Amino acid sequence: MSRERPIQNAMTVDVEDYFQVSAFESVVDRGDWGAYELRVEASTRRLLDLFDAQGVKATFFTLGWVAERCPELVRDIHAGGHELASHGYAHRLVSDLTPEAFREDLQRAKEALEAAAPGAVIDGFRAPSFSITKDTLWAYDVMREEGYRYSSSVFPVRHDRYGMPRFPRRPVRLTDYAGRSMWEVPMTTWRVLGRNLPVAGGGWMRVLPPAVMRRGIRAANAEGTAAIIYLHPWEVDPEQPRVQAASRASRARHYVNLDKTYDRVRGLLEAFPFGTIRDVLDREAETRRDTTPALAPTALTELVTP
Ligand SMILES: [Zn+2]
Repeated sequence: MSRERPIQNAMTVDVEDYFQVSAFESVVDRGDWGAYELRVEASTRRLLDLFDAQGVKATFFTLGWVAERCPELVRDIHAGGHELASHGYAHRLVSDLTPEAFREDLQRAKEALEAAAPGAVIDGFRAPSFSITKDTLWAYDVMREEGYRYSSSVFPVRHDRYGMPRFPRRPVRLTDYAGRSMWEVPMTTWRVLGRNLPVAGGGWMRVLPPAVMRRGIRAANAEGTAAIIYLHPWEVDPEQPRVQAASRASRARHYVNLDKTYDRVRGLLEAFPFGTIRDVLDREAETRRDTTPALAPTALTELVTP
């Protein structure tokens, strides 16, 4: 009896610092970013060392702002064989931007990443705070025009700040009216009792018991889908300064279980095979050419209409 090779999942890191997160956006002015202690380089290197020790290559969605201030870090990510991708320039939510402003943000980020890591191909994007929702589907047109192969920006869940609960739970090709396509690679959810439970990482990894995360990943793999896991460097930096001005709810979300993330990530790396999103898409293209759903703009619009 032949045993299929286990599915390789994707480990992804959104490279930003603790003061740049959307939860603190209302109390930390972008113009003041330069005044904060920069901790992103050290905490990202902590993750790079962990990945190296486990022999894992990951995808690093990096802010252009960070690339300008930590070029050596960005160069080392690329030189280490990891995938360098874009998290935008200044962590602006797509939902706060016009299509023109989004295009400028994408271009500025890409220039900064390419300047820091010459030779890197930047063709993947993750929207800050999963801000591609039913109101911002135009972002795919902009990304296609800017030459992006994929976005990994949708969380198919119900949530107060993001999410498209009816979006497909696996990578899909999204085509435009001219038939041009790009991929959306959504965050992993586990279908339980008719609802999508977010088991993709970040704050969810910090609040859900590790056994639940593992069951969710196994369920995705049993469906033939690679799990897409995300985390942030500040989540492995329990010593980070506290942003006292933020609301109680934002602080509760940001600081819960920061001291546990590192071990939980290591546990996942020991339990499952991980690689980059580029690897996941290469395999999709190779093995599922005929079965991967392609969504035309009309189908996509129907899908996200409540
Ligand atoms: Zn982010």
